Amino acid sequence: MSAAESPQSTPGSILPLQYLKGVGPKRAEVLAQEGIKTALDLLLYVPHSYIDRNSVSTLARLRQRLSGGQFNTFQSSDEIDALRTEITVVARVQSIQERVFGRGRKMLVVQLVDDSRATADIVFWSYTDYYKKTLKQDQLYAVSGKAELNRFGRVTFNHPEIEAIEGDDEELYRQGRILPKYRISQAMKNVGLSIRAMRLLVEQALHNERVEAEECLADYILRDHQFPSKNEALHSLHFPQSLEQLHAARARMKFEELFFFELVLAFRYAGNSSRDTAPKIAPPSPSARKVLERLPFQLTTAQKRVVWEIVNDMEKDTAMNRLLQGDVGSGKTIVALLSMLMAVDAGYQSVLLAPTEILAEQHYQGIKRYCEELDIDIIQVVGGQTKKARLDIAERMQRSKACIIVGTHALFGGSAKRAKVEVKLPYARVGLIVIDEQHRFGVLQRAKLREMGMRSFPEDQTRAPHILVMSATPIPRTLSMTAYGDLDVSVIDELPPSRQHVETRIVFESGLSQQYEWIKSELRAGRQAYIVYPLVEESEKLELKAATQAFEELKTVVFPDFRCGLLHGQMLWYEKEEAMQAFQRREFDILISTTVIEVGIDVPNATVMLIQNAERFGLSQLHQLRGRVGRGAHRSYCFLATKDHFAFQLRRKDVEQQEKLSAVVRLRTMEQTNDGFKIAEVDLRLRGPGDVLGTRQSGIPNFRFADLVEDGSIVQSARTLAFSVVEKDPQLRRAEHESMRREFQRQAREARFADTA
Ligand code: ADP
Ligand code: MG
Repeated sequence: MSAAESPQSTPGSILPLQYLKGVGPKRAEVLAQEGIKTALDLLLYVPHSYIDRNSVSTLARLRQRLSGGQFNTFQSSDEIDALRTEITVVARVQSIQERVFGRGRKMLVVQLVDDSRATADIVFWSYTDYYKKTLKQDQLYAVSGKAELNRFGRVTFNHPEIEAIEGDDEELYRQGRILPKYRISQAMKNVGLSIRAMRLLVEQALHNERVEAEECLADYILRDHQFPSKNEALHSLHFPQSLEQLHAARARMKFEELFFFELVLAFRYAGNSSRDTAPKIAPPSPSARKVLERLPFQLTTAQKRVVWEIVNDMEKDTAMNRLLQGDVGSGKTIVALLSMLMAVDAGYQSVLLAPTEILAEQHYQGIKRYCEELDIDIIQVVGGQTKKARLDIAERMQRSKACIIVGTHALFGGSAKRAKVEVKLPYARVGLIVIDEQHRFGVLQRAKLREMGMRSFPEDQTRAPHILVMSATPIPRTLSMTAYGDLDVSVIDELPPSRQHVETRIVFESGLSQQYEWIKSELRAGRQAYIVYPLVEESEKLELKAATQAFEELKTVVFPDFRCGLLHGQMLWYEKEEAMQAFQRREFDILISTTVIEVGIDVPNATVMLIQNAERFGLSQLHQLRGRVGRGAHRSYCFLATKDHFAFQLRRKDVEQQEKLSAVVRLRTMEQTNDGFKIAEVDLRLRGPGDVLGTRQSGIPNFRFADLVEDGSIVQSARTLAFSVVEKDPQLRRAEHESMRREFQRQAREARFADTA
């Protein structure tokens, strides 16, 4: 180990906190609980926000904003952000009043006044004694939280975060100094570690020359991006001289964070493609050609481009790992099929994994239809098949060798809930694996399938199948670059010309009966309709009850002259299948359903989608549901039914009920656009990346500095750089990458990316 690698050479990292003035054993213990054990840790405990005279709102302005105009979804992402972000004001306490209600319930009302001479109230319902004791009249405070207008029109903060601006801080604030705000836990408060106290500690640490953060980005990166050094950046984060300086410091920290994350992906990507050899699958493919010639439509330009990208990948003897993104109805299936046929013609098996049995069945039927005139065995593997059926499948797989196998989880064998049968399926020479609706599966399942594919080449342990994962959940680019960062990405960004724009309207419950009449006229014109109910309860029994109740009522009371079918999650797969096929054959006019139709079903004659209690659905779900209509020649409609009081919410701008408001934004967004990628962007803003993808499943860490919603361009440049670094210097052996290698290893040791590795 060289001297530079030994931890002793970075004294800051081991300088105990108690070397600093003002840290005794008690404070040291509390700080240790927060993860601050050394002086360097203290420097890394950067402020979570700042109080800046030039950017805090005055109470007068805040009041104006809260009572202002209409909620406007998309044009202004500010409005959406207002739902998420806190408002900070700086104001003086004018009076503190305690009120006691029946049964001794206490409320503390703190009246504030600020330089704009406007007033506001802070209301506390709990810890009232604590606040009564600690808040001081005439003291200046920074108050952060969600503000609203109470029913008397007063600006009100409920249980905000408050920090005293004490001593000379007030003077500094007035002079325009940007004051850092640290996250202060209750335990820290208890030992007198206020924001100001923390600042004094940080100041000491910064001036101690033994405390120095090691630079972890190569010199040329700092130069190219004009980034401050790590030490300078930390300095500015704690004591920014200007907003520009603060931005530069933040940009550097974000970049650093994202860069090391992308580095993990870059290594994994390099590993994907270099370790294993894959079957070379090259055109010409007579089967694919034949299917293409028989298609009743022309491929869109985007489809052609994507097919070409896939051909290009599969021709190589390294495994393809490609994500195919395309909105609902963009025609991913045919692209997958053409790829699978190429593999079959080259003498390999192709496997298609679908998330549900309905979808597997639909793919199976669809593929059979496309391949009618070809001599290719198409095999379906789903749950609930008998042992005899499985043995038959096993036998066919052995006999036909190069075939297409379509199925659900059951493809993996005995893991499915109902699978009593333990028939080992004899996969052999799996050349291509396609995973449909990838968002339903975890990274683990992808790995599992890949292993299955590798085992199918017993003569060659390093053979890996090509993998194509498809997703109809449009993922904003920044997210796909992180969540699926080790994959190449193809996008079908064009809908077939036959796809209709679906006209979308919010309807209120009081207007529902009128809406039903309108739907009847569509049905009389020969069209079909879906009526969808949300899962009201998690419980299966209750779901069943809700669905059947709604079904009975609609059938007998609302639509007595029409034929109604029912589809819900508790039906067996073949019952669902029967219901769907009956709907497809137009045996029903209306399909009343829970969300099981969400994925994949294709009935071009259905032109109306009515979604009940639409406020309960997430945006991507609404978008998926809507994608079921607009598939034929006729004009299509989607109605989002919701409670009447949302009409009021829609008009009012108010941060009062966040939940409901984001429901309002969701509904309005659906009305305003059909574009899945735009919808995904809004969804991401509303819910954050963790919820959009499920942090666990996606393997996206909780970034400390970076914000995937805001920092798309930084993600992009960090990614480009990380990938090019790994390509040029796969071991990070070059001298200029020395510091990056060390940091990378350190992070790997801390298992920061444990669940992504
Ligand atoms: P998704 O991308 O949602 O899986 P599908 O592959 O199910 O979409 O395609 C939706 C419908 O569009 C299918 O009925 C399919 O036959 C049709 N389709 C696919 N490509 C085209 C095209 N280029 N032109 C017209 N229709 C197409
Ligand atoms: Mg599909």
